[in-house]
Order: sequence, then C-alpha cells, then structure tokens
Amino acid sequence: MTMISRRSFLGSSAVVAGAALFAPQAVFAQEVQQPEVVLNGRKTGATAKIATQKLRGGVYALMGSGGNIAVLPGPQGKVLVDSGISTSRPQILEALNAISADPMTHLINTHWHYDHTDGNEWMHSVGATIVAQEKCKERLSSVQQMKAFNATFPAAPKGAIPTKTFGEKDRMKLNGVTLSMAHYEPAHTDTDIWIYFVEADVLHTGDTWFNGFYPFIDYSTGGNINGMIKATKQNLATAGPDTIIIPGHGPIGNKKQLQEFHDVLVYSRDAVATLKQQGKTLAEVVSAKPTEKYDSTYGAGFMNPETFLGLVYQGV
Ligand SMILES: [Zn+2]
Repeated sequence: MTMISRRSFLGSSAVVAGAALFAPQAVFAQEVQQPEVVLNGRKTGATAKIATQKLRGGVYALMGSGGNIAVLPGPQGKVLVDSGISTSRPQILEALNAISADPMTHLINTHWHYDHTDGNEWMHSVGATIVAQEKCKERLSSVQQMKAFNATFPAAPKGAIPTKTFGEKDRMKLNGVTLSMAHYEPAHTDTDIWIYFVEADVLHTGDTWFNGFYPFIDYSTGGNINGMIKATKQNLATAGPDTIIIPGHGPIGNKKQLQEFHDVLVYSRDAVATLKQQGKTLAEVVSAKPTEKYDSTYGAGFMNPETFLGLVYQGV
C-alpha cells in the first residue's frame, strides 16, 4: 500500500480502529520509502534551471540541480562528475546537448548522497559507466540512515549502482585529459573522493567544500569536523595558485576562497572545542555565538549557525 492510499484510507475515522489490525503486516511488507528530503528535492529539481559555466581545458560545470556537476565532452564520450536530481533530466540533457553531441560514456560519483547520485539511473540507462569509491557503492546498495535529517534512505535501484570502483586512488585518461581520483579520509562522509582534471587544472572536491557556506557534515555515514579540516588541507595541497575549483555546493572558486573556508572550519572547531572542554552544553555553546563573525555570511546558506555548531560540537 502506498503512503497516499494509506493516508486516504485512514482519512475515514470509521476505519481507524481497523488500522491497528493490519498495521504490523503492512509495516513488515513495506519497502523503505524515499524520505521527505528526497521527495522535496525531486519536486524542486523538476523545475530547476541549469546554468552552464565553461571552465578551462574542455571542462564545464552545470549548476542548479543538487551538487555541482562537471562535464568533459570529447570523442570518447562525455565524462560527468555527479548526476544531480533525477527530475532535472530534461534540463540537464538540454544543457549537455548545448555543449556537444557526444554521447555520455562515464559518470563519476563524488560520494553517495542523493543530491549527487539521484540521476545515476537515467545516466546509466543512456550509456554511462558509473565510477565511484567502493564504499560509495556499498552505501548506495543498502539502506542508509542520516540522523541529522532524521531520514532513512532506501537502497538505490540496480541501474544507479556504480559498476567500476576503486579503493584509494585511480586514474583514467579520457578525451586527452588525465582524471586523477583519490579517496579522502572520512570527512563529509566516508565515501568522498576528489577528481582532478590534470591538464585542465580543474579540481572537483565534492562536498568537502561548500564555497562560502558552512558545510553539512554527515556523521551517520562516517563524516566528522576534523576529517573535513584534513580534507580541506588536502584540497589546498592539490590546488595550485591558478587551479579552478568546483565545490560540491556554491559558486566555482579558487584557492584563496578555499583557504578562507579552511580558516573558518579551524576557527569554528577550536572555538567550540574550548567551550565544550569547559563543560558547556550545546545549547550554551549556541547562545555564546562563538562563530558570530562568520554567521552572517557562512551561516546564510545550507546550514544555519545553530545547525553547524551542532555538527561541530558532535565531533570535538
Ligand atoms: Zn553530500
């Protein structure tokens, strides 16, 4: 029974008493439903506008549906990094066709989160081999919990599961560009990888970087604040002064902005750790406003200051 039919069924008060009789079986037989956060994301994704940004060395970015997507077109077919929200398929296809007529042959996932993998199934159906870190495949293949959103995610459909995986690092040369990929230590999740387009000098960091905003950190699947700081140091080590950096969310950026993000994370971690060591509760830390100087900018995006402080507090 779907959620909708059950709801309309229970809408009649005369049959509510009967609900208790079938409820245990219904719950037992029921598959895990998509959580609210995905349903809302898909609703927004259906009308999302996709902006295309030409970067360098043949690499483009598509922005507007879930996490930022990278595209490398060429004679060996288009290579994509992340697949956006499934309901944005028409707009994403339109944007891809405006770049070139090359078919899609490769999709790389930066990590398992739905806003980076929801489009996997359709992209695979039109010919893309899905590449990811092996833990990403493992998480997409089974039910996942995300406590911060109080959400349970069903396993992804078969066509959405990565078919080519690696452990720590891998390398592919496609369309004349070397794609160097490597696994971060647990940071935003435990499935994060970066993709560096070597000749183009373009780095996709996945969600280890939210450009200009406090990041989400998914402790339920291995993420933590110290890992985020370590990943940011890794990104700073990979990037040169001219590297174009594609964050998981937020505008395309550069090393200077990435350095600022690093400094914000370190400042926040240290300030919260000091208060926690003094025995302060999370509520006390929040009201002390330890990150006040960044809150009006970094707290105006995906994570408000209170939520972000909670994520930091959990890890120090
Ligand atoms: Zn994410």
